[in-house]
Amino acid sequence: TEACLTAIDAADALNAFVHKTPEIAIERAKAADARIKAGDAPSMCGLPIGIKDLFCTKGVPSQAASKILEGFKPEYESTVSQQLADAGAVMLGKLNMDEFAMGSSNETSVYGNAVSPWRRGNDDAQLTPGGSSGGSASAVSADLCLAATGTDTGGSIRQPAAFVGITGIKPTYGRCSRWGIVAFASSLDQAGPMTKNVRDAAIMLETMCGHDTKDSTSAELAVPNFEAMLTGDIKGKKIGIPKEYRMDGMPAEIEKLWADGAAMLKDAGAEIVDISLPHTKYALPAYYVIAPAEASSNLARYDGVRYGRRAQIGQGDGITEMYEKTRAEGFGHEVQRRVMVGTYVLSAGFYDAYYNRARKVRTLIKKDFEDVFAAGVDAILTPATPSASFGLGEMTEADPVQMYLNDVFTVTVNLAGLPGISVPAGLDSQGLPLGLQLIGRPWDEGDLLNTAYALE
Ligand code: GLN
Repeated sequence: TEACLTAIDAADALNAFVHKTPEIAIERAKAADARIKAGDAPSMCGLPIGIKDLFCTKGVPSQAASKILEGFKPEYESTVSQQLADAGAVMLGKLNMDEFAMGSSNETSVYGNAVSPWRRGNDDAQLTPGGSSGGSASAVSADLCLAATGTDTGGSIRQPAAFVGITGIKPTYGRCSRWGIVAFASSLDQAGPMTKNVRDAAIMLETMCGHDTKDSTSAELAVPNFEAMLTGDIKGKKIGIPKEYRMDGMPAEIEKLWADGAAMLKDAGAEIVDISLPHTKYALPAYYVIAPAEASSNLARYDGVRYGRRAQIGQGDGITEMYEKTRAEGFGHEVQRRVMVGTYVLSAGFYDAYYNRARKVRTLIKKDFEDVFAAGVDAILTPATPSASFGLGEMTEADPVQMYLNDVFTVTVNLAGLPGISVPAGLDSQGLPLGLQLIGRPWDEGDLLNTAYALE
């Protein structure tokens, strides 16, 4: 813990930790020492970790990287961060992210962007650690902590993990409690671990999972011992390669990475089969209707009364002006764009044309996966991202759609509620990490982790 705290102070330039909690860390580390001495060490005893700023942590600022939550210190702890603390994990502080988890580069954060510890060849230009869990990715990759929590609504664990060469898993929707995690799009949001390798992911995921009566969508299922399932034996497993993920203009390096990954799994005894997920091309548009729709509803609670920051109002201003000023000043551009898009697609005149249609598309996407799994496929292999990490400021605000394209391989998994994992798969010609994604059957994270283990 002390080594991590020193490393964090020396790495301020990465802007990964936005609230440091050294006192809490030392206190918990001492408690962990005592438990180890007493021979009562739970699974994560004494392991220093970072917590994404989206998780409510009792008495510690939890701002979702938004100005509107300035000064908010929750009275309660999220279920997931509580489970980690109960298992002996030591919280070092809160990690940077895109505002309300909306983004793919960590550039929408009120704290300014987190920076990747990686560089492109000899070029000094700062690169994005991805988003929205960019601080988590940067911190784990730079050894500021041994692991971190992330959340994934449309790829926010898997894309940043791929950009910095670490492992990240989004479990099946309902595996982890969402209670106490600031809501973005409730039917898509899931928490998950971001770690250095698959074994760590298995251990941490087991700690984070489990039924919680405080989240009505949390599954009442036993949590397996994921670590014990890491045998590395994948003989006879059927791995599907979906043809629709072979996009026009896909960089040759990504093609090669994908082929190499398939060859590795084949060498380990898996059978590689070509599959089709015909509705893939509608996933991104459906996601960017559904996610903003749910966000516009979830974010209605930030009104300057119940949480965080309230704008100064003038003489004669009433409550409407207070709401307007608070929300205009408190939400950043991307968040405002999502609220506007979401409100529009939910409005009486357009509900059927956009929101309902997107929901139907979502059902078809889910069915594509169900059909493939019913035909005997055990896991699906795809690239995690369409490119390696990019320079900060390279994909500007002027073209939000360009940024949304980052999520092309990851959003299908959230729409279908499936587990997906990103594992490091080597470096590109400029020395930047690339990731491969494996998508698994619902509730079969153990098998998915084991297949990922074979790719490591
Ligand atoms: N980049 C996606 C978005 O901006 C995904 C975000 C996420 O998974 N939290 O919506």
